[in-house]
Amino acid sequence: MKREHVIKPVLDHHYPTIQYGKGVYLYDEQGKAYIDGCSGAVTAGLGHGVQEIIDAMMEQANKVSFVYRSQFTSEPAEQLAEKLSDLAPGNDYWTFFVNSGSEATETAMKIAIQHWQEKGRPGKNKVISRRMSYHGITLGALSMSGHVLRRRRFIPLLEDFPVVMPPYCYRCPLGKTVGNCQVACADDLATAIKRIGAEHIAAFIAEPIIGAAGGAIVPPEGYYKKIKAICEQYDILFIADEVMTGIARTGAMFGMQHDEVEPDLMALGKGMSAGYTPMAATLVKDHVMEPILKGTKSIMSGHTYSANPQSAAISLAVLTYIDKHQLVSAAANKGRYLLNALHLLADGIKIIGDVRGKGLLLAIEFVADRTNKQPFAPGLGVTSRIIENAFQKGLLVYPAAGAIDGEGDAIIIAPPLIISEEEMNQLVRILAESIREVMAELTPSTLE
Ligand code: PMP
Repeated sequence: MKREHVIKPVLDHHYPTIQYGKGVYLYDEQGKAYIDGCSGAVTAGLGHGVQEIIDAMMEQANKVSFVYRSQFTSEPAEQLAEKLSDLAPGNDYWTFFVNSGSEATETAMKIAIQHWQEKGRPGKNKVISRRMSYHGITLGALSMSGHVLRRRRFIPLLEDFPVVMPPYCYRCPLGKTVGNCQVACADDLATAIKRIGAEHIAAFIAEPIIGAAGGAIVPPEGYYKKIKAICEQYDILFIADEVMTGIARTGAMFGMQHDEVEPDLMALGKGMSAGYTPMAATLVKDHVMEPILKGTKSIMSGHTYSANPQSAAISLAVLTYIDKHQLVSAAANKGRYLLNALHLLADGIKIIGDVRGKGLLLAIEFVADRTNKQPFAPGLGVTSRIIENAFQKGLLVYPAAGAIDGEGDAIIIAPPLIISEEEMNQLVRILAESIREVMAELTPSTLE
């Protein structure tokens, strides 16, 4: 075999070479078509090869691609920050540009800590997160993440941040039933704050809808209102990790808008540039910036490529495209159609335990036994088998396995927001075949 130089996710796995992409399809060098059922990593929200974005890219490249943020600002960066604030709840956010979702959450953490330092409360420096959560792969972001599999090897290097229970209604951590629970899981945050002491806590971070660490887990109604009230009561900043949910994905511009809650800070990434360039951001409310403006007058963080005009111009074009093609409402409507199709699928396939999500951020959780929700043994690798089978058939879906403290099987279905009804039908058809084939491979004893 020819020597390889790119370090791949799985070193002994063969990855086809991509040739080009158009709309919801990707084509490899053999000419095989793949329907992008998860927008890569829930990123390529506009689909591939969109001419308007390519034009914007060229136009900016013809002016200037890079300037260093300590020397210049640029029109695209200023316009993008203004547009994000106009779109965000409350319209009073500043933007700190970064290059990945991990940097966006980690920067949010740092700004929250700096906020309290400037207010003369340096002891407030811990961040509470939830047991099922993923906020990124760098050590700071991983410290805030509950994702057992991704943390495991680095535990000695991570901050020992507290975690509270997740709003996971399919397997309620309190054994309650939806609609009859008074959203009791949110009270765990108040309990944790009292135990640790609010004087030690800077912020609470949560994904509006849990993504990779469980699969499109939508909290019960009223959850975030209660969470925000608890944060306010104890003087704790609320960080919404909108890296996966933000920018139209869930049928609202920001996931938190479903709950009518205004986070103090937001982390954005993925869909913000729809995969056309690495781009991410931390949005910070006026009142969080205020003591920093009066004090140090500088955020103690930043990266070489932060706020580069090339990426800003691309993101700006993405937001313009979303507006022009009304992709927020498209995500809501198409999401309802696809969710319904997945529910119909579940009727006939007994390893489907739960179908859930909002807008075009949907997921299926697989179980060995539907009646008692018994998960499959991790060694069976059910999630990866379904993903691999679908891949062979030309369908891409995203893993969300390991939700239950490292166990459990789920996949995310999150196609580009421009997907047609016919393409959604094709996606569901292939997915059904793959799940059925993997189900047939599993021995009957695993299923009874
Ligand atoms: N937060 C959430 C909610 C995410 O889904 C991800 C990526 N899956 C991240 C943070 C990290 O983003 P990145 O991979 O761009 O660093």
